[in-house]
Amino acid sequence: MPHDSAPDRSPLDRVLDLPPLAPVARRVASLNARYRHHGATAVMERALHDPEVGRIALVSSFGAESVVLLHMLSVMRPETPVLFLETELLFPETLAYQRDLTERLGLRDVRLIHPDPEALRARDPDNSLHRRDMDACCLLRKAEPLERALSGFDTWITGRKRFQGGTRAALEFFENEAEARIKVNPLARWTKADVQDYIQNNRLPRHPLVARGYPSIGCAPCTSPVAEGEDERAGRWRGTGKKECGIHFVNGRMVRGPVPADAMPAPRPVLVRNDEHAPQEDTADATPAPQPDAPVIVTDQGFAADDWSHPVTPLAEFSGPTGPVTAIEIGPEDDPQLLARHLPEIDMIRVRFPSFSDGRGFTHARQLRLMGFQGRLRAAGPVIADQYAMARRSGFDEVEIPAELARRQPWPQWQRRANWRAHDYQSRLRA
Ligand code: SF4
Repeated sequence: MPHDSAPDRSPLDRVLDLPPLAPVARRVASLNARYRHHGATAVMERALHDPEVGRIALVSSFGAESVVLLHMLSVMRPETPVLFLETELLFPETLAYQRDLTERLGLRDVRLIHPDPEALRARDPDNSLHRRDMDACCLLRKAEPLERALSGFDTWITGRKRFQGGTRAALEFFENEAEARIKVNPLARWTKADVQDYIQNNRLPRHPLVARGYPSIGCAPCTSPVAEGEDERAGRWRGTGKKECGIHFVNGRMVRGPVPADAMPAPRPVLVRNDEHAPQEDTADATPAPQPDAPVIVTDQGFAADDWSHPVTPLAEFSGPTGPVTAIEIGPEDDPQLLARHLPEIDMIRVRFPSFSDGRGFTHARQLRLMGFQGRLRAAGPVIADQYAMARRSGFDEVEIPAELARRQPWPQWQRRANWRAHDYQSRLRA
């Protein structure tokens, strides 16, 4: 029987059993060295087939120039997943163009990535959030869904180019995304004329709004036409000063751009920073090592024993502060809004994850932080290393995992994701 179809193997088992890839930095250096003299199509072709790249997806906005990479993909490997952020505030022309291109190009796995419906109901029930708080709106409709969608991939392809300037001026074909993923930029060295030539030479259909003065196309409420001589992106969030979509949370504070060092939590006692299979004590004065079956706490500094000794009350049994220290547990079905008036009195919230594929806990964390929760926020359950950066960006301070998972995913596998704060999360969504 094929290995991955054994009936007694859970999805988590199968994820953990994938052959390990070398650290991202090493693979990026090797890929850039190998392909530095190649052109865009060769880089795309190799990226889609090179085993060092791992599980790969193309993220596309189906915007003004997206057709170039979509066409290359359709020729080289049309079954590759294409992630399309359907914010539910796009132009009808974009949705029609997406359907038309998908059919014409024969793309076989276009995935429409929607915002979480519960989060939409809670945070933007009348679709007006973009008028009050654009960052919060982009977080809800773009950043959070993209992060969820990318959690199962090792690499993603973008359409970024050097001629777009700024931090892109020195763009390489392969980039290290916070030691967690590889970002491939096949068009890095193309000029504007190269893009136009490719579209014309291959007789590819343009987004209908290009002819109506939209050289860069995003959500309808935040995109306007551009006048002759204006920057291509002048019509995006016009007059607001906003340039990017991404945003994240650190310790309950909303952060734009790279995370400042002073926003990071104080170091906690670290028990495991090695690649042994069992947690071990690292320093003489550290918290005592956990029992073999005790859950392990994952922080940016390493594995730690659980230092929380107060009772944790399930939300269903909570009616108010339980003493000098209050801790609450919520599950995926719970509504964090029920805690709204008590948040200042709560010291810790433990958000339960029933399985690694259930992402509702990430939404709960963001909602709690948006509601102003400043206390300790913990994700608890079979969260895997791939999801650590997403957990931290969602506002969690730490992740509590079962001892068995800690043995099967030792600290070095988490360590690559623990560097999540070095990544300029803003840059990923500029498209
Ligand atoms: S671009 Fe505008 S409408 Fe779209 S998610 Fe961002 S703020 Fe909201």
